Amino acid sequence: MTTTGSRFGAQCEAVGPLADRFAAGGQRLYLVGGIVRDVLSGRVEDHPDFDLTTDASPDRIRSLIEGVVDAVWLQGEKFGTIGARLGERMFEITTHRAEAYLSDSRKPVVSFSTQLEDDLLRRDFTVNAMAVDVVDGTLHDPLGGQADLEARVLRTPLTPEESFSDDPLRMLRAARFLAGFDLAPAPGLVEAARTVSGRLRIVSAERIREELWRLLVLEDPGVGLTFLEETGQLPMFLPEVSELSALERAEVFGRVVAAGPVPEVRLAALLMDVSAPVLEERLRWLRLSGGQRAMVLGLAAAVGLIRGRSDEAWSDEAVRRLTAVAGEYLAGAVVLAGLAGPATGVLEKRLADLRADGDLDDLGPALGGVQVIELLGLEPGPDVGEAMAWLAELRLSEGRLEPDEAGRRLVDWWEGR
Ligand code: ATP
Ligand code: MG
Repeated sequence: MTTTGSRFGAQCEAVGPLADRFAAGGQRLYLVGGIVRDVLSGRVEDHPDFDLTTDASPDRIRSLIEGVVDAVWLQGEKFGTIGARLGERMFEITTHRAEAYLSDSRKPVVSFSTQLEDDLLRRDFTVNAMAVDVVDGTLHDPLGGQADLEARVLRTPLTPEESFSDDPLRMLRAARFLAGFDLAPAPGLVEAARTVSGRLRIVSAERIREELWRLLVLEDPGVGLTFLEETGQLPMFLPEVSELSALERAEVFGRVVAAGPVPEVRLAALLMDVSAPVLEERLRWLRLSGGQRAMVLGLAAAVGLIRGRSDEAWSDEAVRRLTAVAGEYLAGAVVLAGLAGPATGVLEKRLADLRADGDLDDLGPALGGVQVIELLGLEPGPDVGEAMAWLAELRLSEGRLEPDEAGRRLVDWWEGR
C-alpha cells in the first residue's frame, strides 16, 4: 500500500486499518465528499469525521470492519450507511448508491450500486462528488469537481432541476456552499432553484433546521441568505423574514451577518421583529432543541426589554432589573439591540458603571431563608417565600444594602403589613 506522495497521504493513513481489511476482502473503499474537497482547496488537512463510499454491501461492510473499529452504529444501515469510530475519528461508510431521492411522501428512496461513478452522480454538487481510493491515493473526479473548485463554481452533477427535485434540501445546501466557499452558481442553478423551491415542502423540518444551522455558523452567511430569498426558499421555512420589504430584509440580513457565527444568536437577529407568540411557533416548527429554543427566546425577550427605551430610561433600578431578567443573555442582547438600532451606548456605559461598583453582582435577596426565618420568627412556609420576594424586590429597587440594613428594613415592613 503506497499512499505516500499522494496529496491524501495523511487521510489515507488515518483510514489504514480499514483500507487493509477492504483490500484483503477484494472490496474498494474511497474517501468522498467534504474531506476530499477540503484537502484539494487547502482548507483543512484533517477532519474529525470522514465519509467513505464502497462497493461492498452494508452487510459486507459490517463484517469487514468487525474487530478493527472501536464502535459501530447501525441506525443508517437501511440507507446503506454504517457508522464507526476508530480512535478519535468517526467514519461513515456508505455503499455506493445508484439512486437517492426523496419521494413525495417524504420517504427517501435508495438503491445500491457497485459503481463509484453512479454514486458520484447522485451527490449534491461536483465539488462534493470527488473520491479518493484509500489504497493508492488516486483521485476519482469524473464530474470535474476539481476544475469547478478552482474556477469557484457550484454545479450539480445532474441538471440542477433534476438534482434539486430529487432532494430539495440540496437547494438549501447550495446556500451554504455559495456562502462558505466563495463559489458562484453555475448557469441555470439559480433559475432551477426558483422553479423547484416549492418542493422544499417534502423536506422534514429537522433536515431544514440542520442545514440552516450549518449556514448560520459561517463567518459570513450573507450570500447564502440572499440566495435563499431570491430563489423563493425563505418563505418555506422563515416566512416572517420573507414578508419584510426588500429594504427591511437587507437590513435584517446585515444585522444577522454582524451578529457573529452563533446560530441561535443569528436566528434571534433574523426574527427579532416578530411577536413573541409568532417566534415561539416558528421555533417549534423548526424543531429546535430545548437548549436552542431557550437561548433564542431568552435573547429575543432581552432584546425586547432594551429596544425602544430612551437613554434617560436607564436609571440604576432599570439597569438592575434588566440585568436580573436578561441573565446570561444580557451581553448578546445588548449587541443585537445595538445592531438593530437605536444605539445602545448609554446603556452600555450605565452597565459598565454599575458593574464597576459591584451593584450587578448577586442580584438576589440580601438574606437567606434561614436568616429570614430567624429574624421574623417564622415557620417554614409561604410567609418565608413572601418575605424573600420582598427582599428580592428591595435589592432591585434600591441596590446593594448591608445585610443588617436589609434585615431592619425587612422587620419594619413585616411589622407594618
Ligand atoms: P462539511 O465539510 O461541512 O461536513 P460535507 O460536504 O461533508 O460538508 P455533509 O453534509 O457532511 O457535507 O455530507 C457529506 C457528503 O455527502 C457531501 O460532500 C456530499 O457528497 C454528500 N451529500 C450530503 N448531503 C447530500 C444530499 N442531500 N444530496 C446528495 N449528496 C449529499
Ligand atoms: Mg461532512
